[in-house]
Amino acid sequence: MTNPPAADRARLALGRVLGVRPAVVAAAPGRVNLIGEHTDYNDGLVMPIAIARCCAVAAAPRDDGLIRIVAADLPAPGNTSEYEFSAPPPDVRGRWQAYVFGPAALCAARASGRVGADVAIASDVPMGSGLSSSAAAEVAVATALLAMWRVRLSPLGLAQLCQRAEHEFAGVPCGLMDQLASVFGREGFAMLIDCRENLVEHVPLPAASEAVFVVADSGVRHSLAAGEYAARRAMCAAAAGAMSIRSLRDACEGLIERSALTREQRDCALHVVRENDRVRAFASAMRAGDLRCAGAQMSESHASLRDLYRVSCGELDTLVCAAEAVPGVFGSRMTGGGFGGCTVTLCEPDSVAALLVALDTALRGAHGNPCRAFVAKPASGAHLLVQR
Ligand code: ADP
Ligand code: MG
Repeated sequence: MTNPPAADRARLALGRVLGVRPAVVAAAPGRVNLIGEHTDYNDGLVMPIAIARCCAVAAAPRDDGLIRIVAADLPAPGNTSEYEFSAPPPDVRGRWQAYVFGPAALCAARASGRVGADVAIASDVPMGSGLSSSAAAEVAVATALLAMWRVRLSPLGLAQLCQRAEHEFAGVPCGLMDQLASVFGREGFAMLIDCRENLVEHVPLPAASEAVFVVADSGVRHSLAAGEYAARRAMCAAAAGAMSIRSLRDACEGLIERSALTREQRDCALHVVRENDRVRAFASAMRAGDLRCAGAQMSESHASLRDLYRVSCGELDTLVCAAEAVPGVFGSRMTGGGFGGCTVTLCEPDSVAALLVALDTALRGAHGNPCRAFVAKPASGAHLLVQR
């Protein structure tokens, strides 16, 4: 395994800014969800891959109960902070410190004795573009500190600790998918995750010589995303309540049609039921090497997110439409919560060059933005690079 570039920046910052040598260096990847959108909080199915872009953390121990942190990617001043683990927790909601101090504090609570740390963080996962730089940061911090403080925790426990940090310190009520993907990623595999049971099944993907996933960043993140996300969650809960079921995982199309739902509740419920079916069909198609069928599930997923769940936006629709017109493309969809962020496209490797041109031309033409895109290779999950 080669060292991600972020690892060198984290190591350098630890030495230059905090003046210490690392005892541990850990890396944790971002992720892209291939299919299964807005299903996680409905106890449903999702299928992400970890990507070969990581957040890296370099850390050294202290014995005074203090934690000093530095974010190598952020401008000084404001990229360093210092806290005491025994003091009342600082209010770091909505700030970068939440993603470092949060998991660190939860790890410290599991360590024996009075622990402290110097921590430097750097990341090759772009922040805020829907590739989960947040989970990559949390998982990298926790992987480094648990190893340094010799605390044992299961992989599922590690993901849950990081999710708790995002809830309690960042104030973001996220599901568990991002943290699971960052922990359980495996080279060449996607993860079929059952969000009711928190079960992760690895599904082999075609070799890169047969098909690749291209991630394209729309460059937009609409400010309404958080409010609309909360509204969709509430809509799903109301629809499940009206059908007297625990969650939309337990719905079927017949029950939806028979029930007294509002038009919006019906559309949301139909999306969730059909999206879970599409995840199953996508996983089977991938196992069988049926790329056409897998791509069709992706394109249908996008249409459903656009027309039934109504979380797409002009930029995402432009990118998907442009991708689907390129020969050798099997399917394309928005990925992540919507209202901006990225699309993911399954295509033949020989089509990548034409696809990149088509995406950039379309986004510039319709919205005036360039399109950053890259081939996302299914990569391994969190791991230690150095432990002394
Ligand atoms: P996403 O997870 O899609 O990238 P989020 O808004 O959930 O977007 O998380 C992004 C936030 O995570 C950043 O605004 C920052 O606070 C934090 N973060 C991610 N990576 C780093 C990093 N390398 N250094 C400091 N903070 C980071
Ligand atoms: Mg995030």
